[in-house]
Amino acid sequence: VQASSSNADALTAALAWLAGRGPELGRLLGALVAQNSHSQNRQGVNQVVDLLEPELRRLSLTVERIPGNRFGDHLAFRGRAHGAAVFLIGHTDTVFRPGSFEGFQVDGDLGRGPGAFDMKGGLVVTLAALEALNQAGLLARIPMAGMWVSDEEVGSPESQPILRSRAAGSACALGFEAGRTGDRIVTQRKGVASVTAVGAGVAAHAGNAHEKGRNAIWALARYVDRVQALTDYPRGLTVNVGRFEGGTSKNTVPSGARCEIDLRFCTAEDGQRLLERVESMAWSAAVEGTLIEVTRGSIRPPMVRTPASEELAREYGACQVESGLSSGESPLVGGGSDASVTSAAGIPSIDGLGPRGSGQHTLDEQIELSSLVPKASALVRFLARRAGAAS
Ligand SMILES: [Zn+2]
Repeated sequence: VQASSSNADALTAALAWLAGRGPELGRLLGALVAQNSHSQNRQGVNQVVDLLEPELRRLSLTVERIPGNRFGDHLAFRGRAHGAAVFLIGHTDTVFRPGSFEGFQVDGDLGRGPGAFDMKGGLVVTLAALEALNQAGLLARIPMAGMWVSDEEVGSPESQPILRSRAAGSACALGFEAGRTGDRIVTQRKGVASVTAVGAGVAAHAGNAHEKGRNAIWALARYVDRVQALTDYPRGLTVNVGRFEGGTSKNTVPSGARCEIDLRFCTAEDGQRLLERVESMAWSAAVEGTLIEVTRGSIRPPMVRTPASEELAREYGACQVESGLSSGESPLVGGGSDASVTSAAGIPSIDGLGPRGSGQHTLDEQIELSSLVPKASALVRFLARRAGAAS
């Protein structure tokens, strides 16, 4: 067929164009990494967005810069082709506070710097693939869209509803978080919820009026004992009281105590039930005259593996293998990401499609620069096929 052979030629042209771009992609990554963009560094995040926005606009995409409130701005983009889109997910923020880890260094094939692996490298992979498809005249024929948020590392509190609205109706979602060992694709992640419990009692002198006091630490300690016991490893449920504080002095019955709790779960139902139990235990654990108040913090739903996401991982894995990479599925991971948000919205979602590297969230964060082109080639192949361009 005339059309499909010309699409195949366009795919070949896109891949050939990409093959020569390695050094340029390294330079783009360097510019993105050199700018600190810790989640709380709103101005820094916006400067990274300033670098990315014109790159997207050059591709004749519809680009929307959505002002952040507490955090930096988000970027949403959409191609011109109609139809259920392939939705590309990324984030511009990092976990590194200004001054804690700065600058970009190249050492042979390694590119080191804050956010190089998580996940500015994934943004470069995405941009490179889109540009290659654009150069070959294919991009305008592929239904695609995406969003790069500014608050992922703190649980996407502001961007979650925006991401859900921009991704609605998409055929599938691809996350370009840090690549896993062996280029394995992430199909499942635990859900994460954070909860704060505050105990209130009555202060009294420990020597003169012990019986008049109501010990908030005792109440909260009983509570901690009960909620920790909800951990169920076979079911993938964990409760971790990670911070605990209270009291003012050894000889005062404490009137206040506070703890922070991290909850992880494999299904939305388990998460709901766990949260309800953690809340109801506040009543049974409190000692007479004390009160425990439980407040929900950020909640990220689990990314649940489905037949559709499994099929998506297979299809993407084939594109990776054709691009000289490996394939396979990653075992269940404990940390959430924005692909969990699209997954919970019913969109088949996979993640971990970014470059090879190591040291995520540490001062050794680095990527293998030579993996940028093959990772981008895999996305080029996947998108071209979705458009029916290369059968
Ligand atoms: Zn990340």
